[in-house]
Amino acid sequence: MNKVALITGSTSGIGLGIAEHFAKNGYDIMFHGLESNGAQIADEIKNKYQVKVAFSNANLKDSKEIEALVAQTIAVFGALHVLVNNAGIQYVSPIEYFPNAVYEDIIAINMNATFYASKAVWPQMKKQNFGRIINISSVHGLRASEYKLAYVTAKHGVIGMTKGIALEGAPFNITCNAICPGYVKTPLVEKQIKDQAKAHQLTESEVVEKVMLNKQAVKEFVAIEAIADMALLLAKESSKTMTGSAFTIDGGWCAQ
Ligand code: NAD
Repeated sequence: MNKVALITGSTSGIGLGIAEHFAKNGYDIMFHGLESNGAQIADEIKNKYQVKVAFSNANLKDSKEIEALVAQTIAVFGALHVLVNNAGIQYVSPIEYFPNAVYEDIIAINMNATFYASKAVWPQMKKQNFGRIINISSVHGLRASEYKLAYVTAKHGVIGMTKGIALEGAPFNITCNAICPGYVKTPLVEKQIKDQAKAHQLTESEVVEKVMLNKQAVKEFVAIEAIADMALLLAKESSKTMTGSAFTIDGGWCAQ
């Protein structure tokens, strides 16, 4: 029987890359995300890799929808081995203009959803005596940048949560780790380039060069494949003693 992975936000960007890599390696996948072609994406992966898939567009702002997403996964696949808390949003603005509602959404989607989803998978993972929770934090879980207060706060919170979940999961072979990427060229970042240009009063290419890649020693966007490889490693049985850690893939940003 294939192992089962639920990956939030897997109909776009990093989540989609992780989902495809897991499918290629024989995992059944619960796809999730708000993209209108989500079901079609899931179907394409199913046909390409001959694995079982399902799709949900649960809104992660609502804890009841998160519980239903986890329940649906277990009902469809009969198990749940890997949870990747990946879905996230970003907003760039100086503090004094930062809308309260956007701050609250970022905390809800980028941080609180990780708590609700991890809590919801717990009984199943405990029963299996196997669980791998992988949180996609960010270099902004370890370092701050200006104009991203909600994001920086949520991503730091996720790293704290990762450590706590790791301690509670240890007796049940449930591990929890965070992956902290630098900049990855996804729809989330494409939008941010425009917003940063406005906030910093720079052109878009100046934002990439002077704001984004400026902080990385390796002056390249992080490849989605690198994050997917790390997630797959963390999901393995043999990774049971890798827990409670935050793994950077940030082109050397945090080395400074
Ligand atoms: P993306 O915009 O391509 O994908 C985000 C996914 O989250 C989408 O599938 C979207 O539908 C889903 N989502 C957003 N709001 C949701 C909601 N309310 N309910 C349900 N789903 C929702 O972004 P990405 O760049 O692939 O980001 C994925 C994760 O990686 C995020 O947590 C992000 O913070 C993190 N990250 C991204 C970068 C980067 O440079 N792109 C760097 C570090 C960390």
